[in-house]
This record gives sequence, C-alpha cells and structure tokens, in this order.
Amino acid sequence: MDESVDSDDLVIIVENEAESLPAGEEKVKQLGAFGLMDTCPICKLSFHNREPKLLPCLHSFCRRCLPPPLRSAEPRRDPHGPVGSIRCPVCGQECWEIDVLDNFFVKDSAEVPSSTVEKTSQVCMSCDDNTEATGYCVECVEFLCLTCIEAHQRVKFTRDHTIRQKEEMSPEALGVSTQKPVFCDVHKQEPLKLFCETCDRLTCRDCQLLKHKDHNYQFLEDAYRNHKQYLETMTLQLQEKRKAIEEVSSCINSGLQQVEENRKAVTNEIKKSICNLIMEINRKGKILINQLEALTKDHDLALKKQQDDINALTRQLDHVISFTKWATASHSGTALLYCKRLVLLLLGLPVMIILGIDYFFFFFKLI
Ligand SMILES: [Zn+2]
Ligand SMILES: [Zn+2]
Ligand SMILES: [Zn+2]
Ligand SMILES: [Zn+2]
Ligand SMILES: [Zn+2]
Ligand SMILES: [Zn+2]
Repeated sequence: MDESVDSDDLVIIVENEAESLPAGEEKVKQLGAFGLMDTCPICKLSFHNREPKLLPCLHSFCRRCLPPPLRSAEPRRDPHGPVGSIRCPVCGQECWEIDVLDNFFVKDSAEVPSSTVEKTSQVCMSCDDNTEATGYCVECVEFLCLTCIEAHQRVKFTRDHTIRQKEEMSPEALGVSTQKPVFCDVHKQEPLKLFCETCDRLTCRDCQLLKHKDHNYQFLEDAYRNHKQYLETMTLQLQEKRKAIEEVSSCINSGLQQVEENRKAVTNEIKKSICNLIMEINRKGKILINQLEALTKDHDLALKKQQDDINALTRQLDHVISFTKWATASHSGTALLYCKRLVLLLLGLPVMIILGIDYFFFFFKLI
C-alpha cells in the first residue's frame, strides 16, 4: 500500500519537473528524442549501414539486433508459407515477420552525396534518341520527347491519352530528386517513384502499368507533399488528444493526492479519538479507584477500632480472671467476701459485652 503511494508521488514529481522545464530545455529534450530514432535501442549504435528494420509499432532495430521470429503453434496462413511472429524488445508488441519493413528514413540519411545524384534533365523514355523529354503521358507513365508526343497523338491506340507539359509538373516529378531511389521488389530495375492512391502504396512504373492499371496514382514527391500534410494534421490532432489525456492524467493524480490527504486526515482523527478514549477511560478508572479507596478506608477504620476494643476487653477479662483465681486461692474468707459484690459485677459484665459485640458484628455485616 505504502509502496504504491510512493510511486504515485514519484509520478507527480516527474510530471511537475517536465512542466517546469524552460522552453530551451524542452527543445533539447525533443532533439534527444529524435536522436533516439536513428540509434538501435539494443546495441545503442547508429543505424548507419546496419540495415535497420521498422516494426509496426514504429520501433526500429538493426537487422542483426532484431529478435529471431517465434514459430508459434498456430502460424498465420500466408500464401508464402507459415510466418513467425516477432516481439518488439522495447514495447513487447507482437507482429508478423512479414510486416517488418525496411527503415528507409535512416537509409536516406546514409545517403550518397547529393552531387552524385543524377540531376540531368529527364530524357524521353519512349525512344532511344536520348533527347530531352518535353511532356508526360499519364496513362503510359512515361516521359516523352517532342517527336514521341506527336507520334503518341497520331496513333489511334494512344490518341486519347492525357499529355501533360513538362512546365506544368513539379521539379521533383521531373526526377530532380535528392533521395536515393528504392527499387521495386518485383521489377528490380525500376525505382519506386509512384504512389498508387487506390492501393495506398508505393509502386514502380511497371507496377502502375500492369498490376495497378487504371488506378489513380501520383508522383512520389506530390504524394509525399499531400500525405505529409495529412500526417501533420493528424499529428496535430493527436497532440491535442495527448493534451486532453494529460489533463485526465493530472485529474487522476490530483484525485489520488486528494484520496491520500483524506486517508491521512481520517487516520489522524482516528488516532486522536483513540487518545481521547484512553484519557477518558483513565479518568473514569481513577474516579472509581478513589471511590473504592474512600469506601474501604471507612471500613478499615471501623474494623481497626473494633480490633482495639476487643484487645482492651481481652486484657480486662484476663485481669478479672487472674484476680478471681488469686482471691479464691488466698484462703482469706474475709477479704473475698468483703469484695465479692465487686468481683461478681466484673465477672458478669463480659457476658453482656460479648452479647453486645455479637450484636455489633451482626449490625456491621448489614452495611
Ligand atoms: Zn542494433
Ligand atoms: Zn515496439
Ligand atoms: Zn522520344
Ligand atoms: Zn500514352
Ligand atoms: Zn514494380
Ligand atoms: Zn493500385
């Protein structure tokens, strides 16, 4: 009980610290958080050249640090055969082996210098003349030179295609990209430079023409801009939600504090009541003892007085008995007869007194 209270206190303290951080420190903290994104949480090394893998929980690990997949008793049925599951070493969330992606963010940063990136103008993809492209066919997903555009528009099969002029297109779409291309899994030579909106995934030109025929697509850079904006909006919303959650959390914390304060207050009340009760009991006990002492004191005195009386009486009787024995043994008739009346009076007196004592005892027992 006490332990949990302590940890609650700790949470409160930590949160207060976070709130009291000046803006500058906050920034450093954020940079630190981003810094953690490109180092492996297992080996603490930078992901540079270590083939980082991204798990669905958004935690990344070097390929070699990724835990081996668990072959569960009931493996998921997949067209490619049974797959194992991987448990994230950081958050413990489990995912399927095939859902683990390459972390291309880090691959981007482990980039070849931008000077070597091809920045030449786009050439026609339709003919082998190596001439500069002036337009783009949306349906064929191809850059075309002037000649090929004319041919394209003459041929019946492609006459209805939408040709966009090069000037209408974003520079990124024209291939002036600083990013190292990622190649299609199926078409190893084709870079993934399109984004199929219908399937919500990256595609290469061949994919878009075959598997994703008639789907809506965008150039990577255009799609990136749109989706980035969307993600940024979502992030903002999420941050709002986080704030709300933080408020709830602080409510809970203050609730916990309140409960703790109440507990302490009631405990003190109880302790105070116990003290009061003990004091009251002591007071009552003392009164009773005093009453008892007063009562027994009277009784004591009475008994002691009786004892004294009886002792005096005993001495007197002994004296009368001894005198009488002495008087009868003295063989002096004159002397005996002379004081006989006095002796008889004294011999008869004790009987009355004894009767009187009995009566006194009887009387005392009644009290
Ligand atoms: Zn690692
Ligand atoms: Zn994770
Ligand atoms: Zn051409
Ligand atoms: Zn075309
Ligand atoms: Zn492809
Ligand atoms: Zn598609």
